[in-house]
Amino acid sequence: MFPYADIHPKVASTALELLQFDSYRLVDPRDHRVFAYGRDVEELRQEDEPCYRIWKRSEPCLNCTSRSCLAQQAPLFKIEYLDGRVLLVYSLPSEVEGKIFALELVMDVTKSLLVSDIAIHDNIEITHMITKFNELAVCDGFTKLFNKTYINNTLEGYVQAVKRDPAADCATVALLDIDGFKFINDTYGHVSGDDALLYFANKLRHLARELDAWAGRFGGDEFVLCSSRMLDEKDIERLFEEIDSIERHVFEAETGSYSLAASCGVCFVRLDDTVHSLLNRVDDAMYQAKLLDRRLVVR
Ligand code: GH3
Ligand code: MG
Repeated sequence: MFPYADIHPKVASTALELLQFDSYRLVDPRDHRVFAYGRDVEELRQEDEPCYRIWKRSEPCLNCTSRSCLAQQAPLFKIEYLDGRVLLVYSLPSEVEGKIFALELVMDVTKSLLVSDIAIHDNIEITHMITKFNELAVCDGFTKLFNKTYINNTLEGYVQAVKRDPAADCATVALLDIDGFKFINDTYGHVSGDDALLYFANKLRHLARELDAWAGRFGGDEFVLCSSRMLDEKDIERLFEEIDSIERHVFEAETGSYSLAASCGVCFVRLDDTVHSLLNRVDDAMYQAKLLDRRLVVR
């Protein structure tokens, strides 16, 4: 392969001429509204349906590329499957009439998509493959909890939501970190460390379902439990109870038995928050928790 920046302009223009998109739309990922912006009518025209309805979903896509491309200020691709067609969706940040949107360009690649070394025999297989791709994009490969990209993008949504409607219920972020996890790895081996992480992740996933929340793994031994609503005292008590219960579990390894301890800080989204400030606050709360009682709620 050669750097694209070095390509001859004639070859580049042929490539761009052949690369034809079939449709477009402008999406406001903050509230999922869809707009047309035609060449003749010089104004934005809002559509009735939210952006995810086109994919026959009743809720926003997990790996919302519109939100991600705006959060990352970079173009993103994804593949979707709709009514027997495989569609390549290219999302890029775009400013129209002073407002920021994600411009979604869609190309039908049903006949032109070849997947190297994978024989695809029917539509069910390709649907399955695309679903898998889209899951992988938002999941941590090891624990299958949501990954850092999903965490950051979803928190961006929460931060935007409270700015749009300051009276609305504000979201909750709990950050959990296993205490002295390195010691478990060093003493009982990396496999035992992995077992402990999976145990912790599964407990958190179940609890998230119960609390109408979701769980993610930032990386290493750092996890989050988040909800778009403000968890009440009872919910937070339940979270702390669950951590206590995890701490009572005894793991058996070849070289002995051990248990886990974890610290947890809880914060709520504020009107003046950015994702960065929110994560800093919850990180501080978690570190303070490590030094104090290992559970801390910052109001
Ligand atoms: P603290 O009490 O301050 O939280 O310290 P700690 O030892 O828990 O945390 P530290 O950040 O020092 O170490 C985390 C360790 O987690 C280091 C890294 O090797 C290990 N780790 C990260 N990812 C994995 C993984 O997927 N599996 C295993 N077994 N270990 C991992
Ligand atoms: Mg730790």
